[in-house]
Amino acid sequence: MSRLSSFSPSRAFITAPARELGVADHPVFQALPLEARQRIEATGRLQRTQSFGRALAEHELHFVLNGAVGLFPGAGDICVSLVPAGAVQGWDRALWPTSPGPVAIPLVETLLFSTPAASILDTLGRDWLTRLVMLQAQQRLRGLEAEACCNASHAVLDRLAKWIVRLHEGSAGAPLHITQAQFGQMLGVQRTSVNVAAARLQALGLVRFGRGRVRILDLEGLRAASCCVAPAASLADRAAPVRAPESKSFLQAPESPLRRIA
Ligand SMILES: [Zn+2]
Repeated sequence: MSRLSSFSPSRAFITAPARELGVADHPVFQALPLEARQRIEATGRLQRTQSFGRALAEHELHFVLNGAVGLFPGAGDICVSLVPAGAVQGWDRALWPTSPGPVAIPLVETLLFSTPAASILDTLGRDWLTRLVMLQAQQRLRGLEAEACCNASHAVLDRLAKWIVRLHEGSAGAPLHITQAQFGQMLGVQRTSVNVAAARLQALGLVRFGRGRVRILDLEGLRAASCCVAPAASLADRAAPVRAPESKSFLQAPESPLRRIA
């Protein structure tokens, strides 16, 4: 999964209830220079979005505090990437406001802190942002390659299980309000194919589907049934502490946090 410019969030961040989170808790925000943080706080706002609600505004930078956002290359197309809690969507909009990008849609109830992308350009600088976006593009490409491979070669049941695990982890275990039709949209398959796979996962006792909700009954079993999902141990890696930078020059330092963007 492409993490799209997130620093490793702490376990406390991953598991914190959404109502207690603010942008100051976001690991990428914490690693930004003071001037940028002040600008973002002054110009941004918290917003809560519904599952499969409106697409995120393209001219804004979105710090995902809780939940998960899916990237769709075109309206109604397959979901190619996930922007989970702890990641940021839209750095490229600050550099190239009018260039076409994927449509970003919240896949579950999601808490965001959103700020006009243009407002960070002068505080972070064009060079800094260009390097960040280049790194992000490399990661995104690797993620897209893996996703294309998964879509072409793995069964719908395995991929459905994968997305349920991803969304569960991306949204810190919050209830998943997603219909089987919406899963069909994410997987790029017919709803009937999702119905068959969902019935099988349910018969295996791994999940229960009902009224647009998904309840996970056996997370480890679901993980075992899914393809392309990182082992649970990787959560420990994600809990690595984030070292805040001391100045705007932190991105040039040999131990730059930028190198840790994963
Ligand atoms: Zn796969």
